[in-house]
Amino acid sequence: MTRLILTLNTGSSSAKFALFEPGATPTDTPVERLRGQVSAIRSDPQLTYRVEGGEAVRTPAPGAGTHKGALAAILDVVNAQFPNAEVPVVGHRIVHGGTRMTGPTRVDAHVRDYLASLTPFAPLHQPHGLSGLEAAIAQFPDAVQFACFDTSFHRGQPFESDAYALPRSYFDKGIRRYGFHGLSYDYIAGEMRRIAPEARRVVIAHLGNGSSMCAVKDGRSVDSTMGFTALDGLVMGTRCGQLDPGVVLYMLEQEGMSAAEVSEVLYKRSGLLGLSGISNDMRVLEASGAAQAREAISVFVARIRREFGALTAVLGGVDAFVFTAGIGENSASIRAQVCEGMDWFGLALDPEKNAAGEGLISAEGSRVGVYAIRTDEEMTIAKAAAAFLD
Ligand code: ADP
Repeated sequence: MTRLILTLNTGSSSAKFALFEPGATPTDTPVERLRGQVSAIRSDPQLTYRVEGGEAVRTPAPGAGTHKGALAAILDVVNAQFPNAEVPVVGHRIVHGGTRMTGPTRVDAHVRDYLASLTPFAPLHQPHGLSGLEAAIAQFPDAVQFACFDTSFHRGQPFESDAYALPRSYFDKGIRRYGFHGLSYDYIAGEMRRIAPEARRVVIAHLGNGSSMCAVKDGRSVDSTMGFTALDGLVMGTRCGQLDPGVVLYMLEQEGMSAAEVSEVLYKRSGLLGLSGISNDMRVLEASGAAQAREAISVFVARIRREFGALTAVLGGVDAFVFTAGIGENSASIRAQVCEGMDWFGLALDPEKNAAGEGLISAEGSRVGVYAIRTDEEMTIAKAAAAFLD
């Protein structure tokens, strides 16, 4: 009987899933067999998936109006597509692993309680991952459930990257710079080891709806732009990125806003959307001729350039600069704007390679290698499954 690894990435309204066959040995890369998602879970649930080498299938999934229903729909797909397979392990993407979760972890009752206790640290993300976990336990009761955390990759950061200069008691309570997008960084760090093993100091820009950057030295995170929550750092689709905390005090004290209203502005009405007043979607902004769209893009780009300088200083120099995620992988124009005028620094793009956007995109002779690499968070989870298979 074929054994398959199921990976799950559950958000508020979607459940992304993938099935992998384990490699022949624990160090071999798993082979992807199917990938899909249940989207619009709470409104008009749709199931889309593609078996390797096949056509994409899209069908309404009226029963998938809850996470539990979505998992039932996913189980139906597994049974229909792979009738002779079993799923001995289910791997989950969980945003927050707090200070304790430094790597992939088998989920038992204690771990579930600990993860639930972290909800105040990530109120918009943690509950969905946990609800996906509960649903998966119900649908795959015999499988080992394990979790991979977006924070784990950063847990080895030195104190000076981890701490805010608040009274020490806040650090002790867990008010720290956790950093996120760890599954993506883990995958890219692995790809860089394969493609450019000589690059010891790497800056990675994960530019999607959520965006952050990470400084990686010898495969390990030493600093990142996201902090205590996924709000800090770069300009994002609807999140503000770095902000003087005095602005929050002003909103509360002078404008009389409630905490919920401030949260709504910072998470949902800021970033590219807030600045442009047009859209959070980079494709829409790039296609728009409006001055406000151009201005939003220029703030987005300026922040990335500034953080690139800061992370390079942290690393004591840089050997490679990697762009990934929706914008980083697909927008040659953003990559060009970020890298503009860096020749003095020994970093230059090759315009044709940048337009193609796959792998090495820097010019011959560029001291810093620049790369566009497709990220694969599901693969990071699938690779971690080897430790839980037997
Ligand atoms: P998420 O953080 O939700 O996983 P993604 O990594 O899918 O987000 O990135 C979504 C972003 O990528 C959107 O802003 C979208 O406009 C942008 N994007 C996708 N394709 C392109 C493209 N060809 N050109 C510019 N931006 C793109």
